[in-house]
Amino acid sequence: MGDTIAAIATGSARSAIGIVRLSGPESLSAVERLFTPAGGGELSAHPAGTLVYGTLRDEQGRVLDKCLATYSKAPRSYTGEDTAELQCHGSPAVLTAALEALFALGVRQAKAGEFTRRAFLNGRMDLTQAEAVIDLIDAETPAAARCAASQLGGAMSRKISAIYDELVTLMAHFDVVLDYSDEDLEPFDESEITAQVGRAAEELRRLAATYCRGRRLYDGVPCAIVGRPNGGKSSLLNALLGYDRAIVTDIPGTTRDTVEEKAVVGGTLLRLIDTAGLRDTEDTVERIGVERSRAALDRAELALVLVDGSGPLTEEDQAILKLAQSAPQTIVLATKADRPTFTLPDIPGVIALSSVTGEGLDALEREIGRRFPEGGGDSGELLTSRRQAEAVQRASECLQAVFEGMERGMTPDATLSDVELALDALGEVTGRVVKDDVTNRIFERFCVGK
Ligand code: GDP
Repeated sequence: MGDTIAAIATGSARSAIGIVRLSGPESLSAVERLFTPAGGGELSAHPAGTLVYGTLRDEQGRVLDKCLATYSKAPRSYTGEDTAELQCHGSPAVLTAALEALFALGVRQAKAGEFTRRAFLNGRMDLTQAEAVIDLIDAETPAAARCAASQLGGAMSRKISAIYDELVTLMAHFDVVLDYSDEDLEPFDESEITAQVGRAAEELRRLAATYCRGRRLYDGVPCAIVGRPNGGKSSLLNALLGYDRAIVTDIPGTTRDTVEEKAVVGGTLLRLIDTAGLRDTEDTVERIGVERSRAALDRAELALVLVDGSGPLTEEDQAILKLAQSAPQTIVLATKADRPTFTLPDIPGVIALSSVTGEGLDALEREIGRRFPEGGGDSGELLTSRRQAEAVQRASECLQAVFEGMERGMTPDATLSDVELALDALGEVTGRVVKDDVTNRIFERFCVGK
């Protein structure tokens, strides 16, 4: 039974339901030795894909659970092999006991990602879809989940395959023309071929450029919260996170280090970087904070600049506002809007905010949603994997070089062979060209049971 694997597919916390899944030739027979349907008989007497209620016992016959069991036959299953599943009560003790009982029968523990690896090796999905499985599990926003679900459905594979097939056709035509040049074949229209290669290069370049937005769906938009000490940065961070992550005090310069947290604001996943005040100071510890703030702004795609609206703008505020202009997106917030001394400063687009009453948080959410629309994410046409993006970029560069060569008048036989390199790179994206080290790296990212 060495080739039959099993793992707990659900989380390690106690829950209503927990699932043990199996894949491999002995999946059904192993489950049948432990599970008896309530009406008697065998699980295999029931049709594949149906849930059957019954009793689960360990290998010594002791009752473990009253649960549901199901099975699928190869190749119509997730992994493409025979599979089975036990849906138990979600007690880690029950699930572990069920797993141990299976191990006692010779089933072995699945490694991280082994189910999906088998699905890939059996042609049930390509690499973009396998990576989408991890993205879907890791998704923290509905937009990220939608993007992953659409890639799981093959949206990215179809896009890449369309370009791949077009290039293969082009190369095949070219090879035929070379090999049988005296035959009466469809002429090889060089300018049309050049244009076709150029279009593919451009399309791939545009696709590679979606990686930045695609990754943001998962990693979050790096967002620096800046402003002078005591302006309300930590309070805003806490309001956005919904719990006291940063320590809020009224001693200036409390936030000596930077604090990073993810939060979904306006449907956008933000990686919030809380910073020490941006003021110049002789205090060495604070200076580290100031330097880090500058560094945070350097990395930030969005700067939330806080000015204390309960008092007048200071020179320091002006300096910080200027510094923050270096960020690709800047939103200015006038804090402490609940205080009687509050006045809205004369800054274009400024939002009045109170972390105490929550005033202005809605407006901030809307503004962030407006600045970072997720366009394209739903259609699964955003590249979300660095591996895929690098290969697409490489393919694009190869094709661009071929295009430019042909434009300069180089003959097709001198340049077109490089199209093969582009094909290899595209093949890597979907896994048509299989490199073991690459697949190993992908599946290592999975959790056990997936
Ligand atoms: P930081 O140094 O910029 O991180 O500022 P803090 O978030 O630590 O806030 C400094 C002080 O201002 C604390 O005493 C907070 O309670 C207070 N504070 C922050 N935001 C608000 C607000 O919106 N309204 C009021 N009334 N007080 C605030």
